[in-house]
Amino acid sequence: MRISEVLRRNNTSTKRNCAHPQTDWHSDRSSNDLTKLTRELTKDGSVKHSRNLSWSRPYLSKTRYMCGRQCSKKLWMTVYDDAEPLKEPLPGTRKGMGIEAGIKARLLWPGGVLVDTKWNAFAEAIDLTKCLIADPTVPAIFEAALSHHGVLVRVDALERLSGGRWRLNEVKSSTRIKDEHLEDVALQTYVVFGAGLELADAHLVHINDKYVRDEEIDWNALFCRVDVSDNVIPFLPSVPARIANMHEVLCSTEAPDVRPSRHCFRPHDCEFWHRCTSHKPKDWIFHVPRISSGDFDALELSGIVSMRHVPDDFPLKPNQKRVVDAAKSGKVYRSPEFAKFLPLLALPTSYVDFETFSPAIPIYPNTRPYQRIPFQWSWHYNDGSGSLIHSDFLASGDIDPRREFSETLLLASERFPGAVMAWSQFEEKVVRDMAELFPDLAERLTALLYRVIDLLEITADHTAHPDFQGSFSIKAVPPAVAPDLTYSDLDIADGGDASAAFYRIVADPTLSAEARDALRQSLLAYCQRDTLALARVHQWLIQES
Ligand code: SF4
Repeated sequence: MRISEVLRRNNTSTKRNCAHPQTDWHSDRSSNDLTKLTRELTKDGSVKHSRNLSWSRPYLSKTRYMCGRQCSKKLWMTVYDDAEPLKEPLPGTRKGMGIEAGIKARLLWPGGVLVDTKWNAFAEAIDLTKCLIADPTVPAIFEAALSHHGVLVRVDALERLSGGRWRLNEVKSSTRIKDEHLEDVALQTYVVFGAGLELADAHLVHINDKYVRDEEIDWNALFCRVDVSDNVIPFLPSVPARIANMHEVLCSTEAPDVRPSRHCFRPHDCEFWHRCTSHKPKDWIFHVPRISSGDFDALELSGIVSMRHVPDDFPLKPNQKRVVDAAKSGKVYRSPEFAKFLPLLALPTSYVDFETFSPAIPIYPNTRPYQRIPFQWSWHYNDGSGSLIHSDFLASGDIDPRREFSETLLLASERFPGAVMAWSQFEEKVVRDMAELFPDLAERLTALLYRVIDLLEITADHTAHPDFQGSFSIKAVPPAVAPDLTYSDLDIADGGDASAAFYRIVADPTLSAEARDALRQSLLAYCQRDTLALARVHQWLIQES
């Protein structure tokens, strides 16, 4: 098959097989195509370094290569910056769920053997992989270690096919294929080819978001297998040059000078963000709401870093101008229309906050991967007498918490009259989900919906404060209007932490009873603080008017 034919095929749809392992694979691609193509597309497969490199220098890995694709400074800091020791991702975090999905996916290859060595025992891992490759009774090798041109990859599942060929399987915990995944597979393809294996094709194994769990998990239905060989081909030609550039970066004794900007969040939030931006002013123009990359670059490249220095004639949208004007004047802004919301904001009123978690691998029957499962609510009620009444719920996690969550929430909502204030439309969406799930509760849940007021919308559309620093998050607004209200004394700092904590309570068998109790107390304190913060923001809105 000619390369041009293969490249043309990139435009055809990707072949999917969402439920069954492809043990009997057939293709019109001739044998060892991916190896041949890699050789041709990477121009004989050589990394062209501009100077001699010593391979005793840090190697590249899949992770490091993808860091380098995001930012050369991130690559350098990942290797050399040891100010923050690497932590093992906790279960329930995004990375933790990714690791769990990778381990569970091994069930798709019965009889597969894990290259079970310490993470930094590279030579041992490579030797063990060679032994397993030489053993025809091993159908698949998990975490196969292969190296080529200073790059060491661990292939999630290297699957033995007939005729001495191999299939590369990369497992992702996402529900769709992204370009970053294809770049990752292209790098592995290049290394597997360089290590001398005949690679027939490459598959991405990812989570099937249509799967609904029964009592037991059907692993073959939970994971989709997608042949991405054709999709990877466009990424192959640039691999050698990128490897060479990254090795150049790693040969430097200093981190590259890279300006923090939007790229720091694509495709992943960079862990060095706070370090790279520690010298920026509080009113850094990056925090102008929804500032475009073009406007941000134009301002910074003309030497304007602080909102106070944005020229008056610089084109800004109304919401951006409000924030910039507040930074310049140092004064709180209220729109002329704000007064019309005051009747809505009258006491008595309640403040509500929910916590949810979305496990990649469904925990409860009749739930899908990443389905939003509410497990906790906090409710503060202000009858206008000056004191707040608090009520809350935190599920045990032993069973699907959604019914108990809904019933207890309804009891609270029917006990306390008046409007119910939330921050964003998140709580409304969750109540809608529950109304759809429980038709017998739908009428009462809908009645609750009619009472919900989005305090974020009112605050963001009609106010600005110099200390909000361009953010209207529930973690940014309360400290500006109620400086005594802080989250710094809490173990749980945000909704992501809360989700991960509940996940551990439910699914981490290594958790002791004491640790479980401590997590529950932390969750209760965190959610309560959020509704208290809402009450303080509401108080600020009505007092300042
Ligand atoms: S914060 Fe941005 S500039 Fe700094 S290392 Fe990360 S991606 Fe690079």
